[in-house]
Amino acid sequence: MTKQDKSFQADAGLEKALDLLRQPNARQQPLPKSLAAEGIGEEATLALLAPYVLGEASYLDSPAAFAHMDPPTPWITWATSLWNARLNQNLLHPATAPFARQAEEIVMAWLAPWFGMQGGHMCSGSTVANLTALWAARDAGKVDQIIASTSAHISIAKAANILGLPYKQVATNAIGQIDPTKVSELGDLSNACLVLTAGTTATGVIDNLALVGKAKWTHVDAAWAGPLCLSDKYAGLLAGMELADSVAISAHKWLFQPKDSALVMFRQLELANSAISFGEGYLAAPNIGVQGSRGAAAISLLATLLAWGKGGLAHRIEQTMSMSHTLAEALQQETDIILLAMPTTGVTVFRPTNISTEQLYQRLPAGMLSTCIVEGEHWLRSVAANPMADMDKIIDAIRKALP
Ligand SMILES: *Cc1c(COP(=O)(O)O)cnc(C)c1O
Repeated sequence: MTKQDKSFQADAGLEKALDLLRQPNARQQPLPKSLAAEGIGEEATLALLAPYVLGEASYLDSPAAFAHMDPPTPWITWATSLWNARLNQNLLHPATAPFARQAEEIVMAWLAPWFGMQGGHMCSGSTVANLTALWAARDAGKVDQIIASTSAHISIAKAANILGLPYKQVATNAIGQIDPTKVSELGDLSNACLVLTAGTTATGVIDNLALVGKAKWTHVDAAWAGPLCLSDKYAGLLAGMELADSVAISAHKWLFQPKDSALVMFRQLELANSAISFGEGYLAAPNIGVQGSRGAAAISLLATLLAWGKGGLAHRIEQTMSMSHTLAEALQQETDIILLAMPTTGVTVFRPTNISTEQLYQRLPAGMLSTCIVEGEHWLRSVAANPMADMDKIIDAIRKALP
């Protein structure tokens, strides 16, 4: 390799990559069966991969995409992701990431107060954010058990397992909210961490946030619904969350960020950080949290916040919320459909009465809806993450798929 290795320079091939992004070539050529000794070069590689990566992709901004907690991403984040890949900044090392670290501080300073939190850090997803928060609960909060509902995300069970803490799951009501009487039946919570979910994965409901503060440490898993805080119209749904000890949100869900982007935030930042920081030897700054090396996801989030403002974000979230209401109201008109409940956070759950849920699911276009299990029963589920979804088209497709 010479000093002039073109593989590491801004090359005209980048424009080709952009062209392929706009219009991928359709014909797939076979991929090599094994690793070749000689490469085919960058441009040929892009042409070879585009039909697989882009041509065959399911697009989250397509009019029918309304199935998962994965949003389409604004193009400003595509651009910043490219910049991030070029620089490969590592938040672990201040010298390689001066602006990325600053970007994370700015994003935290702007967002954390909306959740009543002092600050925190970014990580790869709410699975890690939840683990980090429960780690702080154990070592800064001195809790010796974790309590959550049976609707809590699987990451809470994983965290309890990793942290070696007993995990108790409390029953919910019929739509998946934690049952407060079952929580009080547990008695003394002065050594417990209570995890409440804001936007459960299956039904999108919010646990009773009046329970915040009833245990030694309360963590709110707001991976999905946390961003509603930014909407004047819906922030009230999350009232009480601001008293929690920690909050997790996935920015790669309702903040329209590319993966891997999440925030873990604490009400008493220094107390939490004292328990989850390791810093010695070769590190110029303490390593806070679970991950070591991590990238500059904050720059894409900062770019989105600058480009859209709070209003632009709130507007898009509110739009998707109203789309879920449109869907639920239309389904309510159907005699052969049971709606579990009106959606609280954009998650609409229903099932047909005259065929099985699985049969209806099979008859619908892929990526339009997903399925979930509530109290042992199978349901269809839609998640309002795509502001470009065409509700008329989706409602029409569901009606046509019914026998
Ligand atoms: C998605 C989700 C998680 C996990 O977040 P990832 O970003 O996928 O790791 C945790 N809790 C809830 C309620 C979720 O919806």
